[in-house]
Amino acid sequence: MTDCDKCKTPVPPANDATLFEAIRSDEPFFAFAISRHLLPVVIDDVQICPGSPSRAQYLEGQPRDPRYPYRDEREQPARDAYAALQAQYPFEGDEASTES
Ligand SMILES: [Zn+2]
Repeated sequence: MTDCDKCKTPVPPANDATLFEAIRSDEPFFAFAISRHLLPVVIDDVQICPGSPSRAQYLEGQPRDPRYPYRDEREQPARDAYAALQAQYPFEGDEASTES
């Protein structure tokens, strides 16, 4: 687990794109990659990290990523993987509190 490669702040496991990817692809190798936020991180109405829109677009309530085509067949596996990630690593309060 490392800081996010985009915004350089700590990545809670529940919002870690590499752990998400490890579950989604059933490929544990991803868990050893450099961490990145999955969902955007917004603190006090300021977005401090865009997260990983290409992955997050498949999750409920997230905007489509215009850079990548949306593949319907990826939606359910992505949502299942996200649910599994949340079950494995419950969010502990809001993200800002993880920075201490
Ligand atoms: Zn980040």
